Amino acid sequence: MDQKRFIEEDFNGYLNQLIESHRLEPIQEGITKLVIDKGYDFLSIKQKKVFDYMIDTNTVDSCERCGSDIPFCEMFEALDNGGLCNYCQHMKEKLEYE
Ligand SMILES: [Zn+2]
Repeated sequence: MDQKRFIEEDFNGYLNQLIESHRLEPIQEGITKLVIDKGYDFLSIKQKKVFDYMIDTNTVDSCERCGSDIPFCEMFEALDNGGLCNYCQHMKEKLEYE
């Protein structure tokens, strides 16, 4: 994922969701807490590598269906629904249940 997105408004909120969901390894969790506290730029190169890997394995860059960027406020759901934005998830549910 592009590091430019780390300054998006909902990014820290998403990091908190990841910690609360206990998806992260202990070392990933520690570094994620550091990012919430001090910001990504505070990390050492080694810590950034761990964090980048954690982000790459715990985010969906763009929606599998429409290709638009998934905002961090929808990211947690997207992890569980196979990588869909809210809109496509909604459309999919509509098609399945109609
Ligand atoms: Zn979509």
